[in-house]
Amino acid sequence: MTYGTIATWRMAHEGVIKANELLKKQGTAGDAVEALINTVEAYTYYKSVGYGGLPNEQGVVEMDAAFMNGDSFAIGAVAGIQNVKHAVSVARSLSHDHFNSFRVGSGATQYAMQNDFEIVNMLTPRARKIWQNRLKEMREKNLNPYDGHDTVGAITLDLQGSMAAATSTSGLFMKKAGRIGDSPLSGSGFYVDSEVGGAAATGLGEDIMKGCLSYEIVRLMADGKTPQEACDQAVYPFIEKLKKRYGKAGEFSLVAMNHKGEWGVATNVEFTFSVGNEQKASRILMANPGSDQTTIIEPITQAWLDAYEKRIKAPVE
Ligand code: ASP
Repeated sequence: MTYGTIATWRMAHEGVIKANELLKKQGTAGDAVEALINTVEAYTYYKSVGYGGLPNEQGVVEMDAAFMNGDSFAIGAVAGIQNVKHAVSVARSLSHDHFNSFRVGSGATQYAMQNDFEIVNMLTPRARKIWQNRLKEMREKNLNPYDGHDTVGAITLDLQGSMAAATSTSGLFMKKAGRIGDSPLSGSGFYVDSEVGGAAATGLGEDIMKGCLSYEIVRLMADGKTPQEACDQAVYPFIEKLKKRYGKAGEFSLVAMNHKGEWGVATNVEFTFSVGNEQKASRILMANPGSDQTTIIEPITQAWLDAYEKRIKAPVE
C-alpha cells in the first residue's frame, strides 16, 4: 500500500504538502483531501477559491464545491453557496446523508448555518476592488467578462487503499447569479473509485460538463490505461469533437491518480499542478499540450514561481 495526492494549479501546493503529511501518518484520504482544499479556501490571495474569491456580476461570492468518497461512492455537493468559509467541508458533511446530499443556493447556506460551519462575508476588500475595476473596464472597453477562474480539484490515496476527491471554486468571475459550473457535478468536475482511481477538473465548466471528463478518465483507467494514457485519451479527442460539433472549446485541465499512486494530467492551456506520493515528495509541475494528443510535463522554474507570487499579491488600485 502506498499514498499520494494530486491537485490542480500551483495554488494547491501547500495543501498537497499538508495532505501528504497526513497520509504518511496514516491519515484518511477523506481527511487529507478536505485539509488540502481548506488550505486553499483560507488563503486570501487566491482569487478563484474560498475567502478572497471573486464575485458574480452582482458582487456576490457564490461558491461550488464537492466531496466524494471512493470506497462508498458517497457524494456531497453545494452550489451557489454564500458566506461560508469552507464550502468543501459543507459538501463533505452532506456526503454522509443519503438524501438531500447536493444543496444549492439558500438551502446550502442555511444547512451550513444550522450546522455550525464558519460564516463570514466572503467578499474581501481586495476582491470587491477587482470586481469594481472590472465593471468599469467592461463599460469602457466592451470586454469579455469571463476571464478569471480556476478550481482547486484534488485526488488523495491513503495507506489503507481508500481514495477521495474534492473540488472548491468561486466559479467564473462575473458569472450570472445562479450560474453553476462543473465543479460540484459528479463525473464532470470530479470522480473517484478506490478500486481504480480518481480525476478532477478545472476550466470552463460549461464545456467540461459536455464530456463528463472526470468519469471518462476513471473509466479508461478501469479499462487498464495508465492515468496519463487515460487523461490524454479522454481529453484531447473530446476537445477536437467539441470544436467540430459545437464550434468551439473552452480551457480544460484535468488531473488523475490511480489506486497505485501513479498519476497523469491533460490540458489545452499552460497548466500548473502539484503532486506527491510515497516515492517522490510533493512538487509543482507545469503541463502543456504536446503534439499528437499528448501532454508535456516539466518542472516549474523559479522565475515562473517568483512572477506568480508577484502577480497574485500585486496591489489593486
Ligand atoms: N470549473 C470552474 C467553473 O466552471 C472554473 C475553473 O476551474 O476555472 O466554475
